[in-house]
Parts: sequence; C-alpha cells; structure tokens
Amino acid sequence: MPIILVPKDIISNDTQAFIKQFNITKTYVIGDTDIISESVTKQFPNPERITGATKYDRNINIINRFSADFNGENVLIATGNNYADALAGSAYAAKTNSPIVLVGNILSSSTRTYLNSNSSGKTVCILGGEGAVSSSIFNDSSNRRYQQSATKEFTNPLLKLGDTKEKHALVFGSSDNDMYQSASEAEANMIKISIDVWQLNASGEKQAAQRTLTVNKAVADVVKTVFKEIFEGQDKFPIYSVQGYAWRPDNTSEHKWGLAIDINPNENYMITSGGVIVAGSFWDPANSLYSIPEKGNVVTTFNKYGFTWGGNAWKSSNDYMHFSYLGK
Ligand SMILES: [Zn+2]
Repeated sequence: MPIILVPKDIISNDTQAFIKQFNITKTYVIGDTDIISESVTKQFPNPERITGATKYDRNINIINRFSADFNGENVLIATGNNYADALAGSAYAAKTNSPIVLVGNILSSSTRTYLNSNSSGKTVCILGGEGAVSSSIFNDSSNRRYQQSATKEFTNPLLKLGDTKEKHALVFGSSDNDMYQSASEAEANMIKISIDVWQLNASGEKQAAQRTLTVNKAVADVVKTVFKEIFEGQDKFPIYSVQGYAWRPDNTSEHKWGLAIDINPNENYMITSGGVIVAGSFWDPANSLYSIPEKGNVVTTFNKYGFTWGGNAWKSSNDYMHFSYLGK
C-alpha cells in the first residue's frame, strides 16, 4: 500500500495524476481535519479517516485498524519524538508483518493499553538506543511489569538528575568512583561529535551552523540528542561556543571526564556566592540572547536527559554556562 504525503489543504498535480493512473479503490486518511482537510480527503477514492487526539493515539488506532494483517509474532517499538528510527524500521516491520508502536519519554495510556493486551508471548524489538527509547520502557515492555502498576512513572535511572550508581557504571564501567587518573586515560574514552546549532549573523538573524565538541563516548549519543532537541526547539537558542572535555588535573570538574558542557561562557558567567566572578562577564537573559534562560529549551532539555544546570544547582556558586551529567 503506497503512502502519499499531502499538505493539509491542497494536493499536487502529481498526486492527482497518481490517483488517476492507478485504480485505487480505498484510501485511509491519517488524522482529523486539522491535519488533512476535508477538501483534500474528498479527492481520494473511498476515504476512511483514522484519527486520534495525539500521534500516539493515532498510531494505536492505525495498528488496531489493521490488526488482522499482523502475524502476531513481533512488536516493534520506536521513538515518536522523530521519525528516523520508525522509518528505518518500517521495511523490517512490513517484511515481518509487525506493528511499530511509537513511544515518547513515557508511555501514553493508549500505548500502555495496547501493549498490555498485545505483547504477551511476542518478541518485543526496540528500534534505536537508550537516547531514543529509554531502557525503562524497554524493560517494562519486554517483561510486562507495567501491567501491575498502570500509573508507574517510567523514569530511566540514566536520565535522572545527579550522581547515581547507574550513571557511574555507564561512564566508568563500575558503580564505584572509578575516575580517570591521567589525561591519556581520559582521552581514550573521548569522542569528538558534531552538532547543529543556531547562530546569529551580523544582522541579528538566526541561521543554522555546526559546532564540534569532545565528550565522553558513554554520553555522546545523549549529548547529540540534547543538542538536536535544542536545535529543533522553539527557542532556537543561539550558541556561538560549546565546550566539553578538558583535562584539568587539579579539580573535580566533570570537564576532565568529558561529562560537562559549557555554553556561551562570556554571557553565562560563573560567580561564587560571595560575588567573585570566576569565569565569563555576566548573566542577563532578559537582555542578552546568549544568556541561558532558566525556563527555556536549553535548561529543560539538558534536565530531561539527566544533566544538571550549574545556574541553579548549588549554594556555593552559580555556573550559568555549565551543564554536567553527574551534577558536579
Ligand atoms: Zn563548565
């Protein structure tokens, strides 16, 4: 069955020609009139809408509509935050007659209800890594623990704020404080990554650009996800400088482990509770586009993926440029 993408209110000549050329007898329209208008829908043969209040509800309603076509052996799970993993998995899903269930950072109630009654005895296959589908959803989906507690929060311990045993084990291979003893030991665990950012051009307009930074391999995927969400977020926060790993033999800053990231240092200073400026010049989000606002996309996205913001984490100082995985 071909999938035809249409704008909400108009269909192209190519699409009209396609409809004429093939003897289509039935059309499924995904979404209500707020997504695909009635005027567009009427131009397709024998249309039937499949709706739902959210993309997760629509996903489950589509699966239920075509449930007779699935062979019942596999359930695929992919993130609904973006389409790449689900799209990549769609060929395998078609080949194995398996549904792809979309999940967010927690399970929606319609998704939970579907998995409760449709995953028992099946192979549950997760498309994507930890950053895409958190392990708590994976575990709960594969052993069905979520059935016992419909309101349980699916918080991934690796995405919790602060210093946890799970985070230590992820980064250092052990839950002990097993830090790197030398720059060369640290650097063997680092990787340079490339991220998309917004930058301000000379006339003050935002334009896409790329930056690179070096971070610990253990958090590289999650850091990429954080910056992808910041880049796609509505704030379009401009980033002229981003720095991760730096070996600092004398202190316990997470930069030496590749777990801390500094953004736009000059406009996001570090200042002690006694008023001594340690780095940068000021922090003034009301007047500087480069200062990180407390309630904006940058802080909320880092927090969502388990990074603490130095702007509000400690009593001894505020380090507004600084985000750290273990909260130091
Ligand atoms: Zn820092």
